[in-house]
Amino acid sequence: MSTQTLTEAKMSHHDLLKDQVAIVTGSGRGIGLSIAKKLAGTGATAVITDISQEFADSGVKEITDSGLKASGFVCNVTDVNSIEKMTEDVMNKFGRIDILVNNAGITKDTLFMRMKLEDWNAVIETNLNSVFKVTQSVIKNMSKVNYGRIVNIASVIGIHGNMGQANYAASKAGVIALTKTIAKEYASRNVTCNAIAPGFIDTAMTQKLKPEMKEQYMKFIPLGRFGSPDDVAECAYFFCTGGSYVTGQVIVVDGGMFM
Ligand code: NAP
Repeated sequence: MSTQTLTEAKMSHHDLLKDQVAIVTGSGRGIGLSIAKKLAGTGATAVITDISQEFADSGVKEITDSGLKASGFVCNVTDVNSIEKMTEDVMNKFGRIDILVNNAGITKDTLFMRMKLEDWNAVIETNLNSVFKVTQSVIKNMSKVNYGRIVNIASVIGIHGNMGQANYAASKAGVIALTKTIAKEYASRNVTCNAIAPGFIDTAMTQKLKPEMKEQYMKFIPLGRFGSPDDVAECAYFFCTGGSYVTGQVIVVDGGMFM
């Protein structure tokens, strides 16, 4: 065993991401907040960014109240100026960005026939174009120091499609293709880029679905329960800690719904 590996082995799980800075977009609540908490629990400073100041503040409070490190910034992932400002503020405050989790996302579901161009554009803008913009803003710092972990939150819908979700499915399929391309372009800089494709996760996004629809989904989940944000966070944690030889991959976290 090399000295490096021995030292790593001796490090406690709580220190694995010690001194690292992790930006998670849309992390005021839901899956993003769980990921931020998990990374903070492993020693990182979690940078909570959200379109809403209120959610950014409450997310930070939840983490710092448990004795972990977090810092909040308002950032609208559709707005380049807002993104550039956030990245600059984070660099000025911490001097490094080791991890980026592109998590912010929305749905605007309706059958294709009724889908307005504005519903299409809003979802592509928030879920896909944002990943281009935020990643471009952050990756140059990673590239410079030869280290980075990028995790994109896609969806099983981006692999399989879904009735009423043409805009969402296309945005998430785009995120998967973008993930693989960034993985190829930045592998030589030791920047990995992977995606998580969650199935049905119990958050505000899915709480608005009709009970009949939820029952329908449940029938197709072999593990017999909806996922929790923590189930997704476990996977993000893997990409940011142990998964140094894993890049360009999509891990499906869906209780076995699609296999
Ligand atoms: P959520 O609870 O609605 O959280 C999404 C977060 O993103 C919210 O805090 C939201 O802020 C923020 N956000 C929305 N638009 C934003 C913008 N323009 N700029 C910055 N932040 C913005 O949803 P979630 O379920 O945790 O979803 C997180 C990610 O997982 C999304 O990409 C989603 O597509 C994906 N996903 C979710 C599921 C699921 O079943 N829940 C399944 C597959 C994939 P506000 O609340 O203030 O608007």
